[in-house]
Amino acid sequence: MTNAQKQDGAQLDSAPARFLDQFEELRMDLSNEQLIAEAIEINHAGIGKDATLERYRDHLVHFDHYLASVHGATFYTARSKHVRLFMGHLEKPGGAKPHDARLRCEWCKSRGYPDGRSGPGWSASYRKSYLSAIKFLYRHFFADEELPDLNPAALESSPKIIHKRGYTPSRDDIKKLLDAPGTPRARLLAYWMFYAPSRRKTFSDARWPDLDLEQGTWEVVGKGDVVDVFALAPPLLRQLRLYRRWQLSEAEQNPAMRDALSDPETAYVLLTKNGKKTNPQCVTKIMNWHGIRAGVGLRKATVGGDAVNGQTSRVSPHAFRRAWATIALNDEELPIDVVSEVLKHKDIATTRRHYAPTKSDRATAALVGMRVS
Ligand SMILES: [Zn+2]
Repeated sequence: MTNAQKQDGAQLDSAPARFLDQFEELRMDLSNEQLIAEAIEINHAGIGKDATLERYRDHLVHFDHYLASVHGATFYTARSKHVRLFMGHLEKPGGAKPHDARLRCEWCKSRGYPDGRSGPGWSASYRKSYLSAIKFLYRHFFADEELPDLNPAALESSPKIIHKRGYTPSRDDIKKLLDAPGTPRARLLAYWMFYAPSRRKTFSDARWPDLDLEQGTWEVVGKGDVVDVFALAPPLLRQLRLYRRWQLSEAEQNPAMRDALSDPETAYVLLTKNGKKTNPQCVTKIMNWHGIRAGVGLRKATVGGDAVNGQTSRVSPHAFRRAWATIALNDEELPIDVVSEVLKHKDIATTRRHYAPTKSDRATAALVGMRVS
């Protein structure tokens, strides 16, 4: 049977009775819930992450309720215009006065017309995820011989994601953060995060045996047990030595810390008073507080967050990474492959996308500045 014939099978309601025999092997009786469950269980697309599949499930339930409540359609009868309208409705504001496109959607209605995290409607990346879920569903239709070959999402193009750069402290902000008072742990972290711009878990996991304060190196065991060696900049090395001295003197009066430090397995650099390692969430919190103290990256606090006088800070481990990369690329004019290597990006395109937004300015400067004699 050709695809075209199978496609016709989708419109069983209008199909003349004499055609019905021909299509009896096509299953048109499964409910949308059953189709979602089946598509996810079989997973023709081979999605590796359970979290992604769960998100697709939610997206498809939304699509199902939308089709039924707004267009009286099902997954079998959905047409490309329905997909387009569905994608459009995701972009429209909800809240107290939802956009017309949202009003009749039963899914949106029963949840009080929610919006995404970044303002009215859902973000491009979230909408992209919705479209992927719909394509995932119809891929299942295509792969299953007993389902009609429909794909009303085939013509729908993916929402364009504009990469908004996260908060990046300036050179002056970094100076303030390095000079700000704070606990020995917070002060060390500020230096460490700027001069060895890694990810927060790396700091949390670091143990003294990984650090060579004589040679000025830090061995980081990454994915697949690959060992990366960070060279430690002199200002960081000085802070590490100061911190080490402080920590050892604390440990003299603190048996839990002393025990932890005497075992290479538990000799964490960021050791708590209870002799435990500082978890990554806590590392971020420490930096938020440090930002508040330094008066850097301040913004109005939301209810329930850490705040001083209603203000919190956007300073985070990643903000230090962005600052390092931005200063390296734009002030120090280091080549992008070097910056990419320092940040341990798998692909240089990531570095470019996130940290080199001034590319055209730099190209102009390069052209104008060219001399051979
Ligand atoms: Zn909706």
